[in-house]
Amino acid sequence: MIRHTGYTQLLFGLFQVLLITVLAPVTLQADEIRVVFPDQPQRGAVLRTFYLGNIEYINTQELADIFSAGAYVNDDVDKQVIYFREGEIKITAFSSFVVIGDQAYQMPAPSYFDGQNYFVPARSLFTILGLTVLKGSRYDEARRAFIGPPSLTKYNIHSASVGTKQNGTLIRVKTSKQFDGANIERYITDGGWLVVVVPGGIVDSVALAHSTMGGIIREAVGHQLAQAAELRFKLTAKISPPEVYQVAQGAELHIAIRNPVRRPSGDRTKQMREQWYLDTIVLDPGHGGKDGGTVGRGGLKEKTVTLDVALRLGRLIKRNSNMRVVYTRDEDVFVPLFQRTKIANENDGKIFISIHVNSAESRSAHGFETWFLAPANTPEAIAIAQRENSAILLEESNHRYQEFSDEALILSTMAHSTWMRESEDLGAIIQSQLPKRLEATNRGIKQTGFIVLIGASMPKILVEIGFISNRMEEKKLGQNAYRQRIAEGLLGAIMTFKKKYEVALLKEQ
Ligand SMILES: [Zn+2]
Repeated sequence: MIRHTGYTQLLFGLFQVLLITVLAPVTLQADEIRVVFPDQPQRGAVLRTFYLGNIEYINTQELADIFSAGAYVNDDVDKQVIYFREGEIKITAFSSFVVIGDQAYQMPAPSYFDGQNYFVPARSLFTILGLTVLKGSRYDEARRAFIGPPSLTKYNIHSASVGTKQNGTLIRVKTSKQFDGANIERYITDGGWLVVVVPGGIVDSVALAHSTMGGIIREAVGHQLAQAAELRFKLTAKISPPEVYQVAQGAELHIAIRNPVRRPSGDRTKQMREQWYLDTIVLDPGHGGKDGGTVGRGGLKEKTVTLDVALRLGRLIKRNSNMRVVYTRDEDVFVPLFQRTKIANENDGKIFISIHVNSAESRSAHGFETWFLAPANTPEAIAIAQRENSAILLEESNHRYQEFSDEALILSTMAHSTWMRESEDLGAIIQSQLPKRLEATNRGIKQTGFIVLIGASMPKILVEIGFISNRMEEKKLGQNAYRQRIAEGLLGAIMTFKKKYEVALLKEQ
């Protein structure tokens, strides 16, 4: 990589112009180089070439067309810019430099400009492209073929179709990758779009937009996010969040929208109430089995406290409401983080509460706090996410979390989530209800990237009920009466949230 060298380059360029003008008519001869795409054998193309001396040139406009890259010519300065997906490349007439980003790359001979088209030395351009905007592409001398990059053609989400059935609507999306259904987030916007966010998805937006929709789906739109594909479907009817799952070894992604349960008679409000009712709560006692969580100096284990508090809370909910209680674990067993979310979604949970116990270097730290899923915004938030997420290190295979390693994914997935507002609200209610039962410090509601919260399609929070690293709190957390008070405080919060949320939903109808 060589930087621009100002005048030297300019003079050299002028010299080359003279050289080409003299030599061009004598040495011009036509040939061609094939362009092939490893993943799409049927998508072949041909680049016409010609020689200046012993150097073979290609027309950059033809190259741009083959790769569906936009090309723009600025006649004032005799430059052409080609916009590849991965970046743009600037070609200047009669310069032996091409510029990509803020780097200049030198070719063995200058470009040629015939007043309309730009031509550059083929082999050196291929090498440069292979290192930059068409990473992985290469020139195959023996086959006289330019092999396109595999990634450029690697869409794994393609077109879609809609089928209307008696009990609902099925959107079938063609895919060429096995996605983990538990990580696929789906929600409905206020504007009537069903949004499905697929981590690891690379969507062919053109194919998706051209898909024939029907029934209650008016149109489909694909957006590529940093590490996820966002599929949007415009709805012509109100629906509840659909089931999303893959079939046929990853060849299709199914989005199943169930029709609301209809009664022969009965008022509309009642129907709506049933559809939206917060009827199922998922309780997630942190850690378990080989994952003990954090341990106090007195020997009390986090996994023991979280399970006992969850079971107490579950019993209270059953006694005081008609909600169904689903536990991600109800005994001392190890449950992977993704499995917890999956249990929540598969059981149609309407609220997800993950219960944990805190610890800190400083033994004086004490009190309770509630976390909702959003990008970490303090060093403390990063530290706690690292500690609670470390459970994945104990899992047999944690490759499924690779997509989560980047904060960007959490951002892109969560920025759109309709559950963020509700989750924050639930957290605020918990923080206001717990003090009514506990004489402990209210440390407030905070945000960070807990993996266990990512995939759950419902209001979801993680509560740290106290510090096991604090001598006084470890002692209290070991007492049945104190655990019962925590459970009562959480029950109060759940009932408050349920009432508020259901009233709000009914008003919206
Ligand atoms: Zn924990």
